[in-house]
Amino acid sequence: MKEKCERMCICCRTRRQKSEMLRCVRQRGGEVAVDLKHSQFGRGAYICADVGCIKKVNKIGALKRTFKSNIKPEIFDCLDKIAKKLEDSFERSQEP
Ligand SMILES: [Zn+2]
Repeated sequence: MKEKCERMCICCRTRRQKSEMLRCVRQRGGEVAVDLKHSQFGRGAYICADVGCIKKVNKIGALKRTFKSNIKPEIFDCLDKIAKKLEDSFERSQEP
């Protein structure tokens, strides 16, 4: 049987394949980082790779709640950039 790698989004609580999500991780020192390659060691949290969801995560402070630690502004910047990229590629794919 094929193993499903589904994870729950910390923002909207939807279950999706890992490949459709962004991973954030709390590293050993308690610092939270965006784990783009899904390879860092530590406690992870998943967010849909979706513009609406990423923005909502920032707004409701879901990361802070999940990791129970302060999130550096860089993390939000990084997520914002990813959201922007997703938005751009979505717009491009809509062009004829
Ligand atoms: Zn979500």
